[in-house]
Amino acid sequence: MKISPQQQAAMLETAQERTRIDGLIARSACLPEKAELDRLRANLREESAGAARSRLNASDLGRDIDKLVSDIAKLKAREKADRLSLGAVEDKFERRELQRDMESTRRRRERAERKLEQTEKMRQAYELDAQQGTVAEAASEDIEQATQRLADAEKDIKARIAVAETKFESLRATLDPAAEKLYRKLEQNNGIPVARIDGRACGSCFMELDVGTLHDFDALAADEVSSCPECGAMLVRPATLAVAMKS
Ligand SMILES: [Zn+2]
Repeated sequence: MKISPQQQAAMLETAQERTRIDGLIARSACLPEKAELDRLRANLREESAGAARSRLNASDLGRDIDKLVSDIAKLKAREKADRLSLGAVEDKFERRELQRDMESTRRRRERAERKLEQTEKMRQAYELDAQQGTVAEAASEDIEQATQRLADAEKDIKARIAVAETKFESLRATLDPAAEKLYRKLEQNNGIPVARIDGRACGSCFMELDVGTLHDFDALAADEVSSCPECGAMLVRPATLAVAMKS
């Protein structure tokens, strides 16, 4: 089959533009700006959940602390009452009982005071964690900026796709009926319909062409159509491109 070198070059250029469009579409599906936004959102979710848990824990400990404070006050009042009674009672047996009670009350109070101190420390730690809420606010600002960056990137790539589509259509419009018919047939196949020979490899499937095939290609006239024996893509040979460039 014969197609003029100029038309073969035009078919090649059309296919190259299509490849560019496919590349842009693939890129638009996995924009790094999208990955960044997803990462920030996941972080925020994690931080918010952690802060909420810590707030809950801090408030539970707050109730424990209130109870300990009130217990300590009661124990102190009891120690004071024991002391006052000791001043007034003379009976030996009663005094011993009072002293024993005062002593055990003091031990209970000291235990409660140690517990209170530990619980206060724990609550402070949880409150510090709960302040991640303010970190989350900063994160939501980052998310807003990342969302804007993604919107910009999407807009940019859509515009580039639109430009490339227009270029593709205008390139394709330069194909004469025979070239257009062949191009349409070739684009039914998967992969790149028209490619150049890249060194010794097919520019569509990247398989290396054997020496015999390359030798056969060398013997062909510039307007003779050749194709890859591996993938069936039309191959525009360097000699054909050279002729197309000259005209
Ligand atoms: Zn091939």
